[in-house]
Amino acid sequence: MTVLNPTGQLQMNASTATTNTGHILFRQLFESDSSTYTYLVADPMTGEAILIDPVMETVERDLQLLKDMGLKLSATLETHVHADHLTGARRLQSQTQCKIAYPAMVQATCSDIAIREGEAFRVGNIELNPLFTPGHTDHHHAYLIDTPVQKMIFTGDALLIEACGRTDFQSGDAETLYNSIHNKIFSLPDETLVYPGHDYESRFVTTVAQEKARNPRLGGGKSKREFVEIMENLDLPYPRKIDFAVPGNEACGSCPDNIPDGLRGSCAIHDQG
Ligand code: FE
Repeated sequence: MTVLNPTGQLQMNASTATTNTGHILFRQLFESDSSTYTYLVADPMTGEAILIDPVMETVERDLQLLKDMGLKLSATLETHVHADHLTGARRLQSQTQCKIAYPAMVQATCSDIAIREGEAFRVGNIELNPLFTPGHTDHHHAYLIDTPVQKMIFTGDALLIEACGRTDFQSGDAETLYNSIHNKIFSLPDETLVYPGHDYESRFVTTVAQEKARNPRLGGGKSKREFVEIMENLDLPYPRKIDFAVPGNEACGSCPDNIPDGLRGSCAIHDQG
């Protein structure tokens, strides 16, 4: 069930799913300035948790949630180097001593775990399978949980609900993204739940079947040529945080010196963590 928490942030109630290895604790959390979803995935048997794509602005909320749920943060896990917000990874690590996981291709010297397709990432008894899904960025990975009763994929900014990540910066490439989505995501079972990295219209989750049918850029069997043409004509504004967010996130969520005053956000009220 979907609820609004007292601060007006959208979140999903904890849900459990029976797997062959036990239960999954799961929460979908929202950061409103960048419309980013952070996902908590935890194994209640071991009490270990990870946060996928945490945001610096919501680190305190995430720490409180972990405490309330009696969980230990074992790692943060990034889908890619974000351009629209600063990750909370470094600050979460300073508070919890968690590991920081990044796609290996980023070569982030601050990360503790290098993610590669074909090498499962584990939280307790739960396995997340990294899927190399370039196109939004050249190093992007999605994460699939695939058990006999639960198929869910965290698609980052590769596939969004009735949309997809932009491909006009950070080594983005529309043809590459089309191939990633078709080969790695649309090839999954239709019922696979798709949890995106963002949504700008208060939607939470979709399925592979829905996106294959309804996604206006990719659905209904759109060709690669049609997709590229759509992406080339989006005429999107220059991302307001990209100039400091990318270097800050390559450093696992540090606060670069070049943040304009109006965009300092939690960099203005915390130390440089
Ligand atoms: Fe992104």
